[in-house]
Parts: sequence; C-alpha cells; structure tokens
Amino acid sequence: MSGKKTKRKTLGLSTRIFIALLAGAAGGVLIHYYMPGGYIRDKVIVNGLLYVLGNGFIRLMQMLVVPLVFCSLVCGSMAIGDTKTLGRVGIKTIIFYLCTTAMAISLALGVASLISPGVGMSIAAAEETPVAAASSINFADTLLNMIPKNIFGSLASGDMLPIIVFAVFSGIMLAKLGNKASTVSNFFSQFNDIMMEMTMAIMKAAPIGVFCLIAKTFAGIGFDAFVPMLKYMASVIVALAVQCFVVYQLLLFGFTRLNPFKFVKKFFPVMAFAFSTSTSNATIPLSIDTLHKKMGVAKQISSFTIPLGATVNMDGTSIMQGVAVIFIAQAYGIALTPSAILTVILTATIASIGTAGVPSVGLVTLSMVLSSVGLPTEGIALIMGIDRILDMLRTSVNVTGDAVCTTVVAKQQGMLDKAVFDADDVKASE
Ligand code: ASP
Repeated sequence: MSGKKTKRKTLGLSTRIFIALLAGAAGGVLIHYYMPGGYIRDKVIVNGLLYVLGNGFIRLMQMLVVPLVFCSLVCGSMAIGDTKTLGRVGIKTIIFYLCTTAMAISLALGVASLISPGVGMSIAAAEETPVAAASSINFADTLLNMIPKNIFGSLASGDMLPIIVFAVFSGIMLAKLGNKASTVSNFFSQFNDIMMEMTMAIMKAAPIGVFCLIAKTFAGIGFDAFVPMLKYMASVIVALAVQCFVVYQLLLFGFTRLNPFKFVKKFFPVMAFAFSTSTSNATIPLSIDTLHKKMGVAKQISSFTIPLGATVNMDGTSIMQGVAVIFIAQAYGIALTPSAILTVILTATIASIGTAGVPSVGLVTLSMVLSSVGLPTEGIALIMGIDRILDMLRTSVNVTGDAVCTTVVAKQQGMLDKAVFDADDVKASE
C-alpha cells in the first residue's frame, strides 16, 4: 500500500508544510496589500478558493476525531486492561497537566510584568464595544457532565470528556470479557487502523490546506491593527516561546533524558497543523499518529492522554490569559494584589479546563478570569482584533504541552520505544 519503493529524493512532510506556511503568509500579505479589492479578490480567491480548500482540509481531519478518539481509547484501555495501571496513568497525566498550566500562567504573569504591555494604553476605545458573553464555568457541573446521559448524544455533539469516560469504561469491560467479546474488540481495533490510515491519507493534502488557511488569514489581516498592540503581542509570544522551547523541553529531558531537539523536529508537522487551523481538537488524530510512528509512544497511552489534553490542557491559552490580565489591569490603571495574582493562577487553570479546543474560545473564557479579580470584561475588546494570530500560536503550544506530557508518561510506564524515537525522521509520504 505504501509507496516507499521509489528512491527519488522527495521533501519530507515537515519541510513541505513549512514551505506552505511561509508561502501562505507571503501570499496572504501580497493579496492584502497589492490586489485590488473586489469580486475576484474577495469572493473568488479569499472567500472562495482559499476558504473552501483550507476549511475542507480542517473538516477532513475533524471528521475523524470522534470515531478515532472513541475507537483508539477503547483499544488503548482494553490493551492496558487493569484498572490500576489506567488509574496511575490518569492521575499522572492530570497532575502533569495541572502543573504545566500553573507554570504557564505564572510565566505569563512574570513576562507581562516585565514588559508592562498595558502601561500608557488609552482605555476609551474599549468602553462601548460589546464583548462576548461571559462564560461562567461551574466546577460541579463540569464534573457531572463527564458522565454521559446518552453516549450517542455525546458522540453526535463531539463532547470529549463523556466520550473518554464511556470509551475507557468499555475498554476495561472488553479486557475483562477477553475472548468472549473478541468480535467487538477486533471490530474496534480494525476500525481504529482504518482511521489511522485515513489520517495519513488526509495529511498528504496538508501543504495545500496549510497554504490556503494561512493565506486566507493573512489576506484578511491588516498589520496596522498590530502597531498599538505590539507590546502585548510581544509579551504573549515571548511567554509562549519560553514555555514551548524551554519549559517543555527541560521537563522532557529531565523526566525522560530524550533529545528535545529530536522531539521538536519530529513534532513540527503537528505544531504547524495546530498553527494553521487554531484547533486542538482537529489536531488529535495527527498528534496520536505522530507520537506513535515517529516517537515510539504506545497508542494505549496517547489515545487516552491526547484527547484528554486537547480538552482540558491549554497552556498556551492560559499564557494569553495571564498576559491579558496584566495588560487589562495596566490599561485600566488597576493594581493587582498578590492574592489577586493567586486567584488569577487558580481561575486561569480552571478556565483552561473549560476551554474547548476550537478557535477563539480562550477569549471567551478569559472573561471568567477577569471577573474573578474584578477587572472589566470590556477589556477583552482591546485584544480581540489581534487575537487571530495569537490563537494560532497558542494552539501550537497547547498541543505541544499535551505531547510532552504523553511522552513523559509513556516513558515512565515503559511504553515508549526509544529506538523509534531515536531513529531519523520517517519521510511522511510513506
Ligand atoms: N484555539 C485554542 C485551541 O484549540 C483554544 C483557544 O485558546 O481559543 O487549543
């Protein structure tokens, strides 16, 4: 099935995606500044061709998320089998996720306090602008909603947490029943293989999809809006970069002794996918596949930790929220007490759990963090205009955090094949 026979030198998927990213950004900027507006530019190119091809690519990936998460989780928990190991993996993962999120917010608060992005801002512009409705997350309900009332309802609406609970439960029962339920277990593992093959097939179109998504975004963004917000953007970007390339890599090396450079290189296509689509959820299939094929992580682990992380672990989002809190406080001239800072760390961690892995939701849950310390939610209007680009960056960090945790947990459980991790990158055209 795979076409590995040809010795012809082809560019690897990472390289092709990287080229598509750059070309898309350049193409988008050219369209924005040099192509005269009108029917051809707006309707045919930007909202026609680029929109259909770009969003078609995201949809192809999204279509796999629910069946893939369900099947691979059933298979994963069935293969692990005993509830003790599953429990250990679950607890380790959740602790890791919570700690990295708290670290991310603290880092963001530190960087923003140093750069002081909001000092000297005029707040007048924000005052009349309406803001997305504040979302209040009730912790008790969040817990209760993890248990599906109707699994088909949860599957149909793509609610990850109830799907995870039901799938893990089913996997444990299948393991318990053993041969008596072999038809069902074979069905799930074969269906899972089909989903993985589909992921790889769809990824062949990634350079085109990425090009169109990025070109469309840049075609719609004027850089003039960025100028007054440069310090805010710089604070978010610096904190995201430190979290992604320093904190995570130190954690990875510290816990596993694996080579962080290799990790980043192999994980790059997933980061680029998250960057161009701004959705952690749609990134799940690719992330599981990359961790398995390129890093040697057993699917039993990643099929559990990746969907869980895409739902509850949003370190990039909490970084944006941490910086936004400082920015808005400074813009409105409100001083934050040490106890307010602690409240921010706590509520942003909870907000990260409540943020769905789809575009722009981080901005909505930000209102909950602002309200917790009495900051005006209207402040969100200040950062709304430039959030698109930051959403792309933070989504890449969100998925990287999930992958680092997965790699650490897999290594600790003895479920990481080091030979695969150390091997040179597999050409993704396979
Ligand atoms: N777009 C982000 C994600 O999917 C969520 C957000 O911060 O808006 O991870």
